Amino acid sequence: MPLIHRRKSIPVRVGSVTVGGAAPVVVQSMTNTDTADIEGTVQQVKSLARAGSELVRITVNSDEAAAAVGPIHERLLKLGVAVPLVGDFHFNGHKLLKAHPECARALAKYRINPGNVGRGSKRDTQFAEMIEVACEFGKPVRIGVNWGSLDQDLLTRLMDENSAKPEPLEANAIMHEALVQSAIGSAARAEELGLARDRIVISCKVSGVQDLISVYRELARRCDYALHLGLTEAGMGSKGIVASTAAMAVLLQEGIGDTIRVSLTPDPGGDRTQEVIVAQEMLQTMGLRSFMPMVVACPGCGRTTSTFFQELAQKIQSHLRQQMPEWRKRYIGVEDMTVAVMGCVVNGPGESKHANIGISLPGTGERPVAPVYIDGEKGPTLKGDRIAEEFQALVEDYVARSYAPVSTKEPA
Ligand code: SF4
Repeated sequence: MPLIHRRKSIPVRVGSVTVGGAAPVVVQSMTNTDTADIEGTVQQVKSLARAGSELVRITVNSDEAAAAVGPIHERLLKLGVAVPLVGDFHFNGHKLLKAHPECARALAKYRINPGNVGRGSKRDTQFAEMIEVACEFGKPVRIGVNWGSLDQDLLTRLMDENSAKPEPLEANAIMHEALVQSAIGSAARAEELGLARDRIVISCKVSGVQDLISVYRELARRCDYALHLGLTEAGMGSKGIVASTAAMAVLLQEGIGDTIRVSLTPDPGGDRTQEVIVAQEMLQTMGLRSFMPMVVACPGCGRTTSTFFQELAQKIQSHLRQQMPEWRKRYIGVEDMTVAVMGCVVNGPGESKHANIGISLPGTGERPVAPVYIDGEKGPTLKGDRIAEEFQALVEDYVARSYAPVSTKEPA
């Protein structure tokens, strides 16, 4: 495990989940359904939770959406999905939370964007109204600043102050300062209004990697609130994944970040759960948490001229992901398993021996046999047309034999 000293933050209880303190970094996600569509939202929350999202945020932007939150929560509970729901409020959150007490009660946390609670004199009263509801229902709040909706009054004031200085700072530095001040100042205001420190999480999301790193280092230096970490508008596909990982990995390595979301833009009709998988893989490959058995596969090269090797790696990866919700309930520690799928004799046996179970497939020109290694020892050698199925069965068998049943953990 890497040597990471987590920043000390105040733990915040969000439903059944703890964010901050000594708790592991929490993975969260957000739906993209219309919250007023109860069934559609229930199904997406369910699949995000099944993929491993430990908190799920939903948009609450209208009376219809607010009225749907209670029924969504109830229906999820009936389906056995107890994931805490976070309500995302902008512009009219003060009205919706007051007009829909069932919504205020069903949500486990409210996200408030200080840049979108109202302008001028309205800002303070509307912010206060939301905090009052949070206090009344005993809910935590995320003060979620975003540079796309930064408090313009604050930014203008800081820009004016800066330009009056003999040696003004660059505009980017002032923008960073405005983000940090908006978050910390709003959190302090929430405390003045009666919200306890252990009910406050803050975030300052930006879309640039270097900006995010600078802003969160400063946040971490200046406060001990739990921090929600995420690169906003990260983008699509590999760009979104790489940018999010580049930014968050640096901060996580410095111990900064108590909960993360990877804000990926899905392909049209794409699977929303990808953002959960990326967040989990980021934490797991950094050695911060374990969620899923990991497949170690070589990239392939001129020694693997058939697609069999890629197909087997993909098949095993999907099989592990499919099995995991069930395995997690049945076997202790199965999420730490590593499975190697290697393309040829060059690194195949060595890498397979390092894994819990691994297979070294025959490269081009090698004898058409595939030795399997189990806990570092040579096991059966597979050959013929059913190598994939036979290896999958060996993995199943390995899990059943090697991981203690969950029930043995319970007291007699
Ligand atoms: S293990 Fe073999 S097939 Fe895989 S990358 Fe190395 S040399 Fe190529």
